[in-house]
Amino acid sequence: MHTTTSMARLDPASLDAADPLAPYRERFLLPEGVIYLDGNSLGPASHAALDAVDQAAQSEWAQGLIRSWNTAGWFDMPMAAGRLIARLVGAADGQVAVCDSVTINLYKVLQAAMALRPGRRTIVAEASSFPTDLYIAQGVVANIQGARLRLAGRDAETLEELIDEDTAVVLVNHVDYRSGALRDMVGLTAKAHAAGALAIWDLCHSAGALAVELDACEADFAVGCTYKYLNCGPGAPAFVYAAARHHAQLRQPLSGWWGHARPFEFETDYAPATGIKAFLTGTPPVLSLRALMGALADWNDVDMDQLREKSVRLTQYFMDLVEDRCAAHGLVSITPRDPGARGSQVSLRFEHAYPAMQALIAKGLIGDFRAPDVMRFGFTPLYISFSDVARAVEILKEVLDTELWRDEAYAAKAAVT
Ligand SMILES: *Cc1c(COP(=O)(O)O)cnc(C)c1O
Repeated sequence: MHTTTSMARLDPASLDAADPLAPYRERFLLPEGVIYLDGNSLGPASHAALDAVDQAAQSEWAQGLIRSWNTAGWFDMPMAAGRLIARLVGAADGQVAVCDSVTINLYKVLQAAMALRPGRRTIVAEASSFPTDLYIAQGVVANIQGARLRLAGRDAETLEELIDEDTAVVLVNHVDYRSGALRDMVGLTAKAHAAGALAIWDLCHSAGALAVELDACEADFAVGCTYKYLNCGPGAPAFVYAAARHHAQLRQPLSGWWGHARPFEFETDYAPATGIKAFLTGTPPVLSLRALMGALADWNDVDMDQLREKSVRLTQYFMDLVEDRCAAHGLVSITPRDPGARGSQVSLRFEHAYPAMQALIAKGLIGDFRAPDVMRFGFTPLYISFSDVARAVEILKEVLDTELWRDEAYAAKAAVT
């Protein structure tokens, strides 16, 4: 299916004409003159998401007032949103809820998983993980007597070498945020289980980028972002997955009233709701959840095999064109060449990556910069075309050929990169 010959000579217009996902682009609002290769950081607005927020604000909030908790389905939204996400991550009903941020959900699942493996004291993760995963793991081990965090890339070369009879939890980023490398969910979960440990998957860069199969891979827990590839809006709440086989024994540490079995009885003592609902904590952000549910409606008819196929071709087309057109500039791709080993982004190392990315953005090509020297480009199959990719590489070539990045205007670092 995937050719290893270069795509660099292929005509972008013909590739677009043969693209079954091309019609999805109309569902998004994208500014004129912008090629948006940063949907892996913040997905764009869709008509469905904006309509849903507008309806929720004008009608459910302004007119319905407090009645809307019952009449507009607000109360059930964290679970209803979880049902929409379940299909995209390969989870049967009752295992996914939407609440809080990824960071907070990581804390909940890590503590819950540690409690399921008493006597074991090690969390194993990768040093290259997204920092919040490591910071939360460091916080968790600081709270548990004798617990420790061991990292592949620091304490050993690979995760496999670190997994042993003291391992309680293996925490893995499914797709590496910096390099785009895709980890083997089936294999690593099986290795964790063989050692008696549990596997937690962070799906921030895979949910909405490729078909995730949590149940089939026998993952224990997962967390993931909705504001990246799923396009649910800035700060949209995250999702949390716990395999049904663990529900009866589960205790998560943030025991708030929304995860209580009977929140409106206002009882003195905490009693967890059954199942995944116990992961809820406090009042959900209704307007953000409405945007999320609007955005997720656009995913109902997406064929995930077509999505993955296009993602692989977009990323390959970009890599082949960069090799062909920008060879003189010493860019080094840190993204795996093997399509089965990468997610939906391409990361290029370049000594002057920060100012170069600022210059690209000024020219209408939006990607992002990741320290110390990476230009990161995300390829989102629902609204990026092969023509966008070809044009993006021409802009990159122009910025590098003219050394536009040397302009002082591009040197000052902003708070968010
Ligand atoms: C984006 C990202 C997060 C973000 O966590 P927040 O709580 O939403 O800020 C966490 N983990 C990974 C791997 C990410 O890529």
